[in-house]
Amino acid sequence: MITIQGKGVSAGVAAGPLYFYQRAKAEVKRSTSAVFETEWKRFKDAQTKAIEQLGALADKARAEAGDEAALLFETHQLMAEDLDYEEAIEEALRGGINIEAVISDVRDQFAEMFAQMEDAYMQARAADVKDVSNRIIGILTGAVQGGIDSDVPVILAADDLAPSETVQLDKSKILGFITEGGSGSSHTAILARTMGIPAIIGVGDQLKAEYAGREVIVDGGTGTAVLEPDSDTRVYLMKKQEDQRKLQEMLDQLKGKENVTKDGHSIRIYCNIGNPEDVPTVLSNDGGGIGLFRSEFLYLGCDDFPTEDYQFEAYKKVLSDMGGKEVVIRTLDIGADKQIGYFNLPHEENPAMGNRALRICLNRPEIFRTQLRALYRASAYGKLCIMFPMVASVWEVREAKKVCEQVKKELDAEGIAYSSDVQVGIMIETPSAAIISDRLAKEVDFFSCGTNDLTQYTLACDRQNNDLGRFFDPHHPAVLRLLKLVTDNAHKNGIWVGICGELGADLQLTETFLSIGIDELSVSPRAVLPLRRKVRESNVAQVRDRLLGDLLSDQTSV
Ligand code: PEP
Ligand code: MG
Repeated sequence: MITIQGKGVSAGVAAGPLYFYQRAKAEVKRSTSAVFETEWKRFKDAQTKAIEQLGALADKARAEAGDEAALLFETHQLMAEDLDYEEAIEEALRGGINIEAVISDVRDQFAEMFAQMEDAYMQARAADVKDVSNRIIGILTGAVQGGIDSDVPVILAADDLAPSETVQLDKSKILGFITEGGSGSSHTAILARTMGIPAIIGVGDQLKAEYAGREVIVDGGTGTAVLEPDSDTRVYLMKKQEDQRKLQEMLDQLKGKENVTKDGHSIRIYCNIGNPEDVPTVLSNDGGGIGLFRSEFLYLGCDDFPTEDYQFEAYKKVLSDMGGKEVVIRTLDIGADKQIGYFNLPHEENPAMGNRALRICLNRPEIFRTQLRALYRASAYGKLCIMFPMVASVWEVREAKKVCEQVKKELDAEGIAYSSDVQVGIMIETPSAAIISDRLAKEVDFFSCGTNDLTQYTLACDRQNNDLGRFFDPHHPAVLRLLKLVTDNAHKNGIWVGICGELGADLQLTETFLSIGIDELSVSPRAVLPLRRKVRESNVAQVRDRLLGDLLSDQTSV
C-alpha cells in the first residue's frame, strides 16, 4: 500500500485503476526561411478556427457544467486574439521563423511571465496561454487531442489538465482526478467541484509512471490517495464512500423544501461566499440567499486598488446571478490576518485589535467611497444589503451611513440608478457591539453575528493560534449569552439578526439558535442541506425552555 498526499479540492471518495492522461503532443519543426505573409495567413486562419472551436466548447461546457465552466472557454477566445499575444507573434514571425515554432516560443514566454507573477490567480493563467497556443499549433499541424483509451472508468492522473482537456474528456470514464500541479483556483479544481468529481491536486513527484493501471482510492476530502490499499483501508474508504453517497442522496431530496421545524418555526439559510464564481454552488445547494460576501477577497485578488467599475461588475454579477434573492455584501474587512501590500498599512504589534475593517474605511474615505459607489450602482440589479464589519461604537455606524448618504447624493446628481431599498446592517463581532446592541439596533436594518471574531474578542483568544485549542471555545456561555442578548435587542427594535461565523453551521447548536430566535444562518454552500435537515428534525417548543434555561443558568459550566 502506498499513500499519496496532496490537497483535496473536491470532496468525495472514488476507487478505480490509475490512468495517466494521454496527451497528443504536436511535433513542432523549426525553419528560419519562412515567408512572413504566408505564415501570417496560416496563423490568422488557425486562430479563427481555434476561436470557433472554443465557442463550441463553451456551449458544451455550459450545457454540462453551467455558465462558470463556459466562461473559461470564452476567456480563451479572448486570449487567442489578445493584442499583446498577437503582436508578439507578428514580431517574431518577421524574423523568418515558421508559425508553429513562433507560437511555441511565444507560448513559453507568456507562460513563464504568468508563472512569475505573485498573484495565484495570474499564475494559474499560465495554463490558459499554453492551452490556447497548443490548440492553434494543433490546428496548424493536424495533431489530434488526447483522451482516455480505456474501457472501464478510471482515476485520471495528469501533470495538470487544461480546461479544454477537462471538458473534452468523457465524464462517464472519470471517477476522480489526481494532478501533480495545480492550485485550488486552477480550472481542474473548479471543474471537478462543479461536476462533483473527487479531486486531489499538488501531489508533485509522488505520482510514478509505474503506478499506471494499479488500483487507487482517492479521498478528495482529505487529499489522500491510496494505491493498492490493504483490506482494512479499502473497507474503511469504501464504507465512507457508501455513507457519503447515501447521505447526499438523502440531502438532495431536501432541495426546494423549507427550513422549518416540526413545530412550524422557520429560519433562513443563506451562504457565505468569497467571489462571484461561488454563486453556482450556492444555487446548486439551494441556498436561500447570500448572507456574507467577503468583499475583501476581490481586493486580495488584485495587485492594486480595484476600480469602481471592476467592483461594480463583480457585485452586479452576484446580484443578478442570485436572481432577486437577498445578497449581503460586507464592506472591506482587511487588516489582522488579511493583509494587502498595496494598502501600505504600518506594522502593528496587535493587528487583530488594530487598524482593520471599518476603521480603515473611516480613516481612508476615498477607498470606502469607491466601494460604496460600486455597491449602490450594483443595487439596481438585485436585492442588496450592505454590511459594515468590526463595529464597536454607535458613532462609527453613523459616520459610515453618512458616507452612504453622500454616495447616493452623488449618484443622484450624476443620474445613475440605484435601488431605494438597500438595507444597511452591521456585523456583531466585538463584545462592545453586542453589549450596546440595543443602541446599535436603532441605527441599522439588521445584525449579522460574526462568531469567529466574537469568540476571539470575548474570550481574548487568538483565532489564528492553533495552539490555543480548547481555550478557543465558541460554545462558551459568554458567547452564547451575547448572541441571545443581541437577538433580543434586535427583535425589540424590529430588525432581523443572523449568524455568519463558522458557528452557524454547527449542528450541535442549531436548536439553541432556533430557541434564541436567530432569523438567518449563513454558512458555506455545502453546509446548507445538512443544516436544513437538522432544522426539519428539530422541535423548538420541546427544547426551548431547557436550552435557554441552561444558557442563562448560574450552574452553567464555564
Ligand atoms: C466572523 O468574524 O465570524 C466573520 C464571519 O468574519 P471573518 O471570519 O471574515 O472575520
Ligand atoms: Mg470577522
